[in-house]
Amino acid sequence: MTSEAQPTPREAHPSKGTLRVVQLYPREMNIYGDWGNALVLQQRIRWHGYTPELLEYNVGDDFPEDVDILVGGGGQDSGQLVIQDDLQARAEQLKQLADGGAPMLVICGLYQLFGKFFKTSTGPTIPGIGILDVETHGTDERLIGNVIMKSAEFGDILGYENHSGQTTLGPGVEPLGTVTKGAGNNSKDGHEGARYNNVVASYLHGSLLPKNPAIADFLIRTAAERKFGTFVPGTPDDDYARLAREHAARRPR
Ligand code: GLN
Repeated sequence: MTSEAQPTPREAHPSKGTLRVVQLYPREMNIYGDWGNALVLQQRIRWHGYTPELLEYNVGDDFPEDVDILVGGGGQDSGQLVIQDDLQARAEQLKQLADGGAPMLVICGLYQLFGKFFKTSTGPTIPGIGILDVETHGTDERLIGNVIMKSAEFGDILGYENHSGQTTLGPGVEPLGTVTKGAGNNSKDGHEGARYNNVVASYLHGSLLPKNPAIADFLIRTAAERKFGTFVPGTPDDDYARLAREHAARRPR
């Protein structure tokens, strides 16, 4: 037996650099498994040969420095009311990040609050931070079920929606996709989600990224290019993503 130390995997494959992922308000805004989006980013960053750092930002926390990717999930109207003041206090910082090209993924409740406002059906209007040119009106109709949409950028996107707020897009954003199953932003125009700069917004939970790795890799590629000037992809294991997509596509509405 040789006493020579074997190289550790880290030494054999030195990290291409650290990418810091910040999850916004996971305490209140994290329903239907939205946490899974942060976990997928963490794992795929590793698979691509970079080092992930996953941080949480909750109401009252110091805002982390050097954010590379931001993710935020959905929440009940009551959760949105809890975070609204803190979110307004962070509006300028978040706007600068979005305008500067930081990659972000916001789902459902935070998608709504990244827009201009969410007028709830029970009364209060929750102001948004206006990164996205969208507005949301609460209704008595709840849009629930599995969704499939076509996106020129990411191919077919699959997920699950559950919201009573209905969102309409202004001229400052593009839709993320066009639904072929389900409702999406509202019960009328067939659009789902919104795209602005490197911000991806969607109503879809499930969570979204395990079934849609093309979106995860877009966020990682964009973050790496901004930070290091280039993205050198690794070899992610997409078997489970493929199975999850096949399974989700077969589910009824
Ligand atoms: N409370 C919001 C609505 O019902 C958002 C719901 C969610 O994030 N799933 O429209």
